[in-house]
Amino acid sequence: MTISNYSFKGRKAIVRVDFNVPLDEQGNITDDTRIRGALPTLKHILSEGGSLIIMSHMGKPKGKPEAKYSLRQIVDAVSKALGVAVQFAPDCAKAQQAAAALKAGEVLMLENLRFYAEEEGKPVGIDKEDPAYEAAKKEMKARQKDFAKTLAAYADCYVNDAFGTAHRKHASTAVIADYFDAENKMLGFLMEKEVEAVNNVLNNIRRPFTAIMGGSKVSTKIGIIENLMDKVDNLILCGGMTYTFAKAQGGKIGDSICEDDKLELALDIIAQAKAKGVNLVLGSDTVIADKFANDANQQVCPCNAIPEGWSGMDAGPESRRQFAEAIEGAKTILWNGPAGVFEFDNFTAGSRAIAESIAKATDKGAYSLIGGGDSVACINKFGMAERVSYISTGGGALLEAIEGKELPGVAAIKG
Ligand code: AMP
Repeated sequence: MTISNYSFKGRKAIVRVDFNVPLDEQGNITDDTRIRGALPTLKHILSEGGSLIIMSHMGKPKGKPEAKYSLRQIVDAVSKALGVAVQFAPDCAKAQQAAAALKAGEVLMLENLRFYAEEEGKPVGIDKEDPAYEAAKKEMKARQKDFAKTLAAYADCYVNDAFGTAHRKHASTAVIADYFDAENKMLGFLMEKEVEAVNNVLNNIRRPFTAIMGGSKVSTKIGIIENLMDKVDNLILCGGMTYTFAKAQGGKIGDSICEDDKLELALDIIAQAKAKGVNLVLGSDTVIADKFANDANQQVCPCNAIPEGWSGMDAGPESRRQFAEAIEGAKTILWNGPAGVFEFDNFTAGSRAIAESIAKATDKGAYSLIGGGDSVACINKFGMAERVSYISTGGGALLEAIEGKELPGVAAIKG
């Protein structure tokens, strides 16, 4: 079923959202992006005559209640955002009566699902090495099913709009879907958009396709690099990874960040790109610094000739030109991970140049997807969020999807 086709009139919808918003010491929301992200789905259900049971996790409370992770703190903000007074169920597993009493247009928000260990379904307080662990895990899985069944019983239909947790097989993100037939479970609008975005860069590719992978380490990106190798025309590898590749090819990298146990892997990636006809772009020059600080002295040098006592912090001007060439002619673009230590204003030039090239290509009709925490922070820092096609809300979930893994939250609904 799809959310656009479903008739919510007179029905109760239990909606999994990602309201894991950052709070300050006083419990004020410091960034409400996630709440705003779920509004189209929530408002649609209400405007179609349904009632809402909203459920989410917040933080990592380890299976028991903790005041600092209570969703009660965000009830007012959600009420304001929805324009409806939101009722609150202080125990998510004991909300039968409150749910049953809901009338069309009314909203009930459940307390943090992770106050129950059953949500994540992992045994607590027992070590993986313990001989009793397997039995505890089995028992917890059974309890997880019961927990999911309890939640499912509150509503007539289930909507999953929490892309941020779609890569987790939790009670509220996947297991609950077993208690609804195919006609009564669906993805929310945000999830639909995310799934479409991933589809645009994995299946529905317009060529040329340029992927830009940056960030600090090869090891955390290898799954994605390998999956993309069969799909892209141009692959730009930048950021801290640059120096592992430079060293692997015999270069001198001074004190730059490097994964010494990934040198072979770097050479293998270079060989794979050659064999597959992928244009691998490893920038040729870099901005180096004499300390890891914004006010460090800086100079430009080749990526493979960095003096001792200096480290590579950003892409150099020639690298930026090479990146621009591969990006500006592209029709499909994926960007994950900055080209330098963009948190320091004096080392943002590489990441900024990438963002500008992506914006230019998008203006000319390319499809651009930006995802994974730091590149999103980058594009926002440069004020260019409006100039790209789509910014993903899911860090880990997006990366797993691009690695080609099936997301349990999506599979539970799509089958
Ligand atoms: P990731 O989480 O792997 O995407 O990495 C993002 C982080 O990589 C950011 O915090 C950047 O500061 C960092 N990064 C990018 N380039 C470099 C570099 N040349 N040296 C050290 N850290 C870097």
